[in-house]
Amino acid sequence: MVTKIIHADRETITPDDLAEAGEIIRGGGLVAFPTETVYGLGGNALDPDASARIYAAKGRPSDNPLIVHIADMSELAPLANEIPPMAKSLAGRWWPGPMTLIMKKSPAVPRATTGGLETVAVRMPSHPVAAALIRAAGVPIAAPSANLSGRPSPTSASHVIEDLDGRVDMIIDGGNSDIGLESTIIDLTGEEPELLRPGFVTIEEIRALTGSAGVDPAVFAPPSEDLRPKAPGMKYRHYAPKAPLTIVEGEAEAVAARIGGLCREAAASGKRCGVICSRQMAGRIDAPLIRILGEEGSADDAARSLFAALREMDEKEADLIYAESLPDEGLGMAVMNRLRKAAGYNIIRV
Ligand code: AMP
Ligand code: MG
Repeated sequence: MVTKIIHADRETITPDDLAEAGEIIRGGGLVAFPTETVYGLGGNALDPDASARIYAAKGRPSDNPLIVHIADMSELAPLANEIPPMAKSLAGRWWPGPMTLIMKKSPAVPRATTGGLETVAVRMPSHPVAAALIRAAGVPIAAPSANLSGRPSPTSASHVIEDLDGRVDMIIDGGNSDIGLESTIIDLTGEEPELLRPGFVTIEEIRALTGSAGVDPAVFAPPSEDLRPKAPGMKYRHYAPKAPLTIVEGEAEAVAARIGGLCREAAASGKRCGVICSRQMAGRIDAPLIRILGEEGSADDAARSLFAALREMDEKEADLIYAESLPDEGLGMAVMNRLRKAAGYNIIRV
């Protein structure tokens, strides 16, 4: 398959390109597109064959459900069996934006889209190109992240091209993702709202609106037999670079000393060590390959750069990777959730 690559300035995409993209989606094809979180790989959410194509293009296990994207509040009712009152307040506060809500699905949503579940995940993205594409398609768009399954999510069109060129009909290049991490997922099918995946909308903000909200234990700890995550995606290896990644946690001086020591040991056995850290930490460490995420303690910087940094470690052929950690609060919870998964929960505390 030849993949057509088109360029969109942040706000605009030519009417012809947009019409063609909408036509592809309506015809059952696949279009990768920019959103404010990460790039999505879109297909008609109401067409089971389109969903099957998404799974095939990504190499994704078909029990890992897709998020359905809408452009207008009126498109929600046909997808959900009932809309819980909490959905209205959460959507009122954060839609369009980086938050996904899980509700009981209506019969219109095929199980091929929901990974066989009776629930559906819905989000209204704020990115103007994403919204324009959904409107042009005239159908809700099922879209997981536009990466090959297991690889870090794409935050630029070049990441999408790396993974999906030749596997999808069209890729819309809309520059770098603003947020850089996938949406916050909130399950509304239980007694109280439950956070399944942390993102830009934080648990602190959710609780301020809903009063109380739980957090799925799989957000912090590796899934196991007795800890079966509600977001099925959580059980798969995720975001992983090729080289083994280890998080080093503790006081800055001690972290720098330990990473420095580990990198010298690696060098002695002919291995190239890569480090992912803040600008301040980079100043304290001597390593052959350092990728700075941004300022010390800035979860916004880390969110925006983390996935690109993980891909860069592969490109530059690091044999071992060490990463500095952030506090698990605010957006830091989302950054650390992705980093812990990418590290396979390998953490050294110094
Ligand atoms: P991605 O779009 O690649 O970020 O993946 C979508 C994520 O949404 C996956 O991790 C899914 O597990 C989660 N998800 C989608 N639909 C549901 C659902 N009905 N119930 C629970 N999690 C869901
Ligand atoms: Mg994904």
